[in-house]
Amino acid sequence: MTTECDRIGGINLAQGVCDTPTPAPVEAEAIAAIRAGYNIYTRLDGITRLREAIAKKQQRNYGLQYDPETEVLVACGATAGLHAAAMALLNPHDEVLLFEPFYGYHVSTLKSMRVKPVLVPLAEPDWALDVDALHAAITPRTRAILLNTPANPSGKVFSRREIEAIADACREHDLFLFTDEIYEYFVYDGAEHICPATLEGMRERTIVLSGFSKTFSVTGWRLGYATADAKWMAAMAYFHDLTYVCAPSALQHGAAAGLEQLPPAFYTQLAADHHTKREKILAALRDAGMEPSVPAGAYYVLAKTTGLKGKTAAEKARYLLATTGVAAVAGSAFFRHGRGEDLLRFCFAKRDADLDEACARLRRL
Ligand code: PMP
Repeated sequence: MTTECDRIGGINLAQGVCDTPTPAPVEAEAIAAIRAGYNIYTRLDGITRLREAIAKKQQRNYGLQYDPETEVLVACGATAGLHAAAMALLNPHDEVLLFEPFYGYHVSTLKSMRVKPVLVPLAEPDWALDVDALHAAITPRTRAILLNTPANPSGKVFSRREIEAIADACREHDLFLFTDEIYEYFVYDGAEHICPATLEGMRERTIVLSGFSKTFSVTGWRLGYATADAKWMAAMAYFHDLTYVCAPSALQHGAAAGLEQLPPAFYTQLAADHHTKREKILAALRDAGMEPSVPAGAYYVLAKTTGLKGKTAAEKARYLLATTGVAAVAGSAFFRHGRGEDLLRFCFAKRDADLDEACARLRRL
């Protein structure tokens, strides 16, 4: 959709590219680091300054203690963090539970290692967790649960009660919990992001994945991190090294400056700004005759496309792009075969001028 959107000069609400401005200290420090000569390989798990800043952030935000020497991995995005964790901790034919709708990279990363993704469907309209379905999906081959909260594409923020239930299953069946918390700061309407590693007995078995792509609007920098108990981290760092050697050197300084210097108000403003954007896209989608489900977090809206021409979601997405110049992702990308065909996903992490123009075009439908 991105390629086709670029070809016709449309507005891309398909990919989660997030083209809002990068915070000044992050940008300035990365540029200064290049000029200061930080252009060579770093330690395989990242520069000390950034590992320390990440450990402090986990302590400050969630009360979680990680040793920056042995329990923090600066990765080439949360994507690379998950890849390294899966390489280190899973074997072919293991099964990993994921919630549906899912984020495509999660499923594909597992499949690429011959690990079997097992989907546990969340119930519409609010994507509630069915605890019985979760337990029913566990087999002797299950090794881990992969949880994305706040979630892409549903915008679901798992409640404490749901995370307790997931943690219970992990403890009962001795499973790892991989948590993708890349949207941790994008929460709306009083929703609270719960870091599952903070639950009783969970720190030891949880691999926390997050990053800077979304929070600092640097998706192209490829910079994220994992925090986990030292007993898992050495193997994860080894596999990350094999593929990437290290994360981009100078850019690590930019991210460290962001963590060190940006005040709490930066993060609340980030959520407030995206809440305003969310309201804009929701109103435009409703005016266009679609039925959006209201996301409590992240920055996507899944909308029912009743009335849009096309049999499949892909056809509907193409019709929308051809008639309005607005690109969205076919809902079928986030579900098992045959589901999601009545849904499109819209990303609202866009500059206001582009989002306003996209909303105006949607209203012309
Ligand atoms: N996880 C989720 C759930 C995402 O939506 C995205 C971006 N689309 C990523 C990870 C990618 O994160 P990174 O850029 O840190 O690899």
